[in-house]
Amino acid sequence: MHDDIDHILISQQQIAHRVVQMAHQITTDYAGDGQLTIVPILTGAMIFCADLIRHMPIPMKIGLLTISSYPGATTKSQGVTILDQHLGHVKGRKVLVVDDIIDSGNTLQAAVPLLYQHGAAVVRSCVLLRKDRQPQPAISADYIGFDIPDEFVVGYGLDHNDDYRNLPDIVALKPRVFDLKCRANESKLRTSR
Ligand code: 5GP
Ligand code: MG
Repeated sequence: MHDDIDHILISQQQIAHRVVQMAHQITTDYAGDGQLTIVPILTGAMIFCADLIRHMPIPMKIGLLTISSYPGATTKSQGVTILDQHLGHVKGRKVLVVDDIIDSGNTLQAAVPLLYQHGAAVVRSCVLLRKDRQPQPAISADYIGFDIPDEFVVGYGLDHNDDYRNLPDIVALKPRVFDLKCRANESKLRTSR
């Protein structure tokens, strides 16, 4: 796994420091409300959300939303699919959607209206990473951890073909990894025809 890493973009120490800052800001903004529901977008936001909420000493409930846009070994968004939802307590509450990264904005643009449809009073969003890309997404997040260049990253919950989520840093992969996985995918497709 570590042989596949090209370079580290954000180290685990930098992430840990920023996550605490974000958690303090969010805690201040929601303190005293008592009506907060956190909704991580699975699977990518799992690790970020778990770290974030442990630095938020305020009452909260948790809902889950599973959305896929980069299925398998692709590094280009294939359109948003809502795969699963266990939203729990959302009606009449303040909801904070947590995602790993905002790129095109399509994921948040699907998640936010869905939560309003389920009766959320106010929906805000929080992402660890924002890609510096053109065109800029139509939707922005309310809380953003880091701005990163427009390249494909993995680690700290982010995957490629469901691998690398357990890397503690945010990293870029060596180009050969994409070539190998794309070839494996193509041959899988050929044999399934
Ligand atoms: P958007 O819908 O804003 O284009 O992208 C958000 C979703 O796409 C994220 O939840 C994440 O799952 C996936 N994504 C976007 N960029 C990257 C990336 O660089 N690496 C990985 N692993 N996933 C990404
Ligand atoms: Mg995602």
